[in-house]
Amino acid sequence: MGTNNKILNEANFLQVLSKSKLDKNDFYTLIFADISEKAFEALAAKARLVTIQRFGMVKGLYIPLYLSNYCNNVCEYCGFSSNNKIERKTLTAKEILVELTDIFNKGFRNILLVSGEWNNFANIEYLKSAVEIVRKVGFHSISVELGALPQEYATMLTVAGAEAFVLYQETYHRPTYKKVHTQGKKMEYDYRIEGQARAIQGGFRKVSFGFLAGLYDVEEEAIEMFEHISYIKKKYWDAEIGISVPRITSAIGVDHTQYQVDDQLYARILMAYRLAFPEATISLSTRETSTFRDGMSDICVTHLSVESKTMPGGYHEEVEQSLEQFSVIDSRSLADMTKVLKDKGYDVHFKDWQRELS
Ligand code: SF4
Repeated sequence: MGTNNKILNEANFLQVLSKSKLDKNDFYTLIFADISEKAFEALAAKARLVTIQRFGMVKGLYIPLYLSNYCNNVCEYCGFSSNNKIERKTLTAKEILVELTDIFNKGFRNILLVSGEWNNFANIEYLKSAVEIVRKVGFHSISVELGALPQEYATMLTVAGAEAFVLYQETYHRPTYKKVHTQGKKMEYDYRIEGQARAIQGGFRKVSFGFLAGLYDVEEEAIEMFEHISYIKKKYWDAEIGISVPRITSAIGVDHTQYQVDDQLYARILMAYRLAFPEATISLSTRETSTFRDGMSDICVTHLSVESKTMPGGYHEEVEQSLEQFSVIDSRSLADMTKVLKDKGYDVHFKDWQRELS
């Protein structure tokens, strides 16, 4: 990885904690140094301080809308994988409107549109018109998670009104990437890793990065993603950055236990990202437990998904569990989640307050 391999101790770690700007070696130290519980708590305290300095006592809540679970790719960790024999569905324009109306009436103004990739049913014209429908309904901010796009597709989506682009590399370890992506456009590692750059060139204001914690050694993945983000920030200094590192959870046909990540290491990685990229939003999905989400939102997480249904049509009708991309663990309602945050003194926003401040 090109980082120094010396044994890192608590003194090295505390020295990094006193810095305001971190390079790759500093990030490496935060992840790998051998530290006590007390030093871990010092990391949490610093991460909380930096989060409050940059974002105040504000948490953003958002909701994903799954448009289609058709997908041309085979990703062995995903329920939508094209070789899984599941019922497939793509929302019609009318169904999108019905789902959006339900979501809008709950109070959300910030939405994440999700679709299976390189999908003949949800092609670029379909996705563009879905973004236009979202705009017409009155949503304030639209994020999309649709796979690595060519620049001209990114432009079409931003012209239609999308602003934030979410793309997980899934794993930065090339042999693992090759092993778990066995069919479709997504097999092209290098095309995907340049996805954020093409999105920015296509007009996206914000790009998000992530990997699936549990596919490979999580510490090594964390360092590689640090480098990926640093590369994009150097090239496009004014692009806003988002970070999300979901842990693998169960889905149809998935069994990943080899690289399971415990809560302490997972928290340490998220906190290290907070110190490395103080201005980045950090999201935590409903794949995590309520206890973990509440704890991390006090430290470094700024955005939380709520009431997520990970299947097309999930908000308005009873749809089969087999349509899910992954299982939801924190199933609290929007009202419950809002109360938890407000009781702790946070302002809860349902739209993208960062855009308003910029
Ligand atoms: S992870 Fe994405 S690209 Fe892979 S099968 Fe699932 S929806 Fe398709």
